[in-house]
Amino acid sequence: MCAQTNSAHPAAPGPKDPEGFSQAMEQLRLAVEGRRVEPICTSYLLLRRAASGMSLLGLLKAVQTSLSDTSLSAVVSAFAHRQCFMCQDGASICRTCKGAGTVDRFSCPACDGLTVEPCTFCLGTAWSDRGEVPAELRKLVLRRQMLHVEKDTQALPRITHQLRQVGPSISPRNRQQAASWLFRVQARLANLAGEEPGAETAARYGRLAAQIESLLEMLRRTLRQAESEDPLEGLGQARGLDVRNEKPADGNAPSDGGEFPLAPVEDES
Ligand SMILES: [Zn+2]
Ligand SMILES: [Zn+2]
Repeated sequence: MCAQTNSAHPAAPGPKDPEGFSQAMEQLRLAVEGRRVEPICTSYLLLRRAASGMSLLGLLKAVQTSLSDTSLSAVVSAFAHRQCFMCQDGASICRTCKGAGTVDRFSCPACDGLTVEPCTFCLGTAWSDRGEVPAELRKLVLRRQMLHVEKDTQALPRITHQLRQVGPSISPRNRQQAASWLFRVQARLANLAGEEPGAETAARYGRLAAQIESLLEMLRRTLRQAESEDPLEGLGQARGLDVRNEKPADGNAPSDGGEFPLAPVEDES
């Protein structure tokens, strides 16, 4: 060891195929410029393969020096945003009621009428499997995802307030959107808690997940209230008819008192 450290920095081993490596680097540069998740992930994986002969640290340094300072951050961000290929946002339309919320006119026993359930593949996180993230990026990706969830949970007080205000008059579409978002944040908290983030953080994740569970329960309760109040009856609408296999048309939905602004909180990088 001493014999190696007394000389000037020994040249790091380069790629076995320098031409293929620089082509792959160029492809990654274009993907980073395009700022789209999938092309960045795919081209980084290709570059990694073309880096045969190099160390992983050497590869990361090459990305930093050949591209811009922020390029590595863009790659980390892309893997942190990479989506489950089985779902859009962590939730799937309930398989039991096909999204109607009812089965034989009764509230669906599988989704409690919320019309959606967590995706069985990603368990609701909407993230691709972290095990598929290249090992040299995994810690950075995990940290980025923790920051995303931190931002999401900061929106919880606002969303709690909105749900309380709207109450049983929430529209079916907004209820579905709210349930999907709550399922996703809850699933992400559970997923991150499984990464042993330390006792204090794990306890906080547990408290936040419980808070989300009570919001989901509030949504189920508003549904039961809306059913018992039956806001459509006075309008002469046929309740429970013609809604199966069809998304509820907004014109037939009870007034929701405005849109439910649940845009997901994502970082910009
Ligand atoms: Zn259902
Ligand atoms: Zn999924």
